[in-house]
Amino acid sequence: MVRAARTALLLLLAAVLAAGAAFAEEPEPITIDNVRNYIVGIDEPVTLSDGTSRPMINFDNAATTPALRPVMDEVDAKLRMYGSIGRGFSLKSDYSTELYQETRDKVLSFVGVNPKDETYIMFYVNNTTDGLNKLATALINSSEDIVLTTRMEHHANDLPWRERCKVVGSKVIYAEVDGQGRVIYEDLERQLKENPVRYVSVTAASNVTGYMPDVHRIAKLAHQYGAKIIVDGAQIVAHRAFSMLGETPEENIDFFVFSAHKMYSPYGGGAVVGLNEVLQEHQPTFYGGGTVHLVQDYAVSYKTGSEAYEAGSPNYPGVVGLGKAIDILRQIGFDSIAEHEQKLNRRLIDGLLAIENVTVYGDTVNLDDRVGVVTFNTSDANSYELATRIADRGGIATRRGAFCAHPYVWRLMGYSDAEMEEYEACDDYNTPGMIRVSFGIYNTEEEVDTLLEILKEQIEEIKEHNKELDEKELWDDIMYPGY
Ligand code: PMP
Repeated sequence: MVRAARTALLLLLAAVLAAGAAFAEEPEPITIDNVRNYIVGIDEPVTLSDGTSRPMINFDNAATTPALRPVMDEVDAKLRMYGSIGRGFSLKSDYSTELYQETRDKVLSFVGVNPKDETYIMFYVNNTTDGLNKLATALINSSEDIVLTTRMEHHANDLPWRERCKVVGSKVIYAEVDGQGRVIYEDLERQLKENPVRYVSVTAASNVTGYMPDVHRIAKLAHQYGAKIIVDGAQIVAHRAFSMLGETPEENIDFFVFSAHKMYSPYGGGAVVGLNEVLQEHQPTFYGGGTVHLVQDYAVSYKTGSEAYEAGSPNYPGVVGLGKAIDILRQIGFDSIAEHEQKLNRRLIDGLLAIENVTVYGDTVNLDDRVGVVTFNTSDANSYELATRIADRGGIATRRGAFCAHPYVWRLMGYSDAEMEEYEACDDYNTPGMIRVSFGIYNTEEEVDTLLEILKEQIEEIKEHNKELDEKELWDDIMYPGY
């Protein structure tokens, strides 16, 4: 009776909240053409080195994306009903718990899985790094748990495997990439043939070249050799529709990991979607409240399934934001997003190649398998100095360095492993690196043109400046840049 009354009250409260949210609802559907109006902070001025201010052009979306206003509004609205998830005895706690559980279904359907299909389950994580670490500690338990990954991975999809394999006495092996940064499928298959691989882990899109390997093809290969496949989805989720399901069951992805902050919901959080049967059998080395049925003085009975992977208090704003971000990205449509990104990629790459002494990494002719990430260098300027100048003088955010994908970046730049050793003790300025431009759904072709203008101007200024220096001064300038 008491329970029924509570539920009725809960429904009433939810309806009131929904009615409130309805008033705040955006008046028009969000599209690729109007999405700029919904980006938080897009007009926020930043102060440049000459003291003037202007809104920043943000080309660092592969690192993290700004919030979408409706995501922020949704988090604000749903915080009015915030209570402890899965733990409390209150209407707000019930409401929050229900929303938390409902969002699981949304996440599953976002990656092409029917939530009613019990083949897959999902669990929430803090971000992709956290998800991959949890998978590594759960799945890698014996010297026979050999992992095959590639040389294009972000460290988040390399180091957890390396370290975990070290602990259990197994190993990580790597498939090579070619000069344009594409994974060599033949090498991947050779590794599978020559080693009893248990898990293949590969990114769906590179954060360095934007290159998207055919992960369903890799899934088929992995399954053919008795391995399971894990896909790092950090760079794909805001750029392309992704499905766990391939054209045939052998092409299905077994585990998929992604972060919400790369999809316009910077409240933390992310998800792992994975095979129910496998996840039920394993447990990450991460323990605490919420993961147990019963704890006695000297015995513990652990839960299985999603909750076994979600120790500690959940991140409610992260989950609310993730759910809303999924709604909006779907509303805009991944076809429109892909088409828009291709235009930006083409314009930027062509513009860069037209500048003397500029190298653009990856395939610059066929862009079909690239999301909106472009990396480049010029032999006329130190990339650190150039990136700093375009930020401080041009108000444009890029990123410079090796983007937590060192082995991939060194390969693309033509450095051997041995050559890189001498840079170990160097500061950032002197370590080889690239400049990265990564697009979001709201970037424009005009912004690309502005970047190209500022780049040209700053490269010329650097060249002029360097011309006036003798060898010693040039060296000092490199070591202690005064830009
Ligand atoms: N994988 C790739 C390909 C990435 O680009 C990133 C983030 N740069 C990560 C994993 C890690 O994501 P997070 O920082 O959200 O854990």
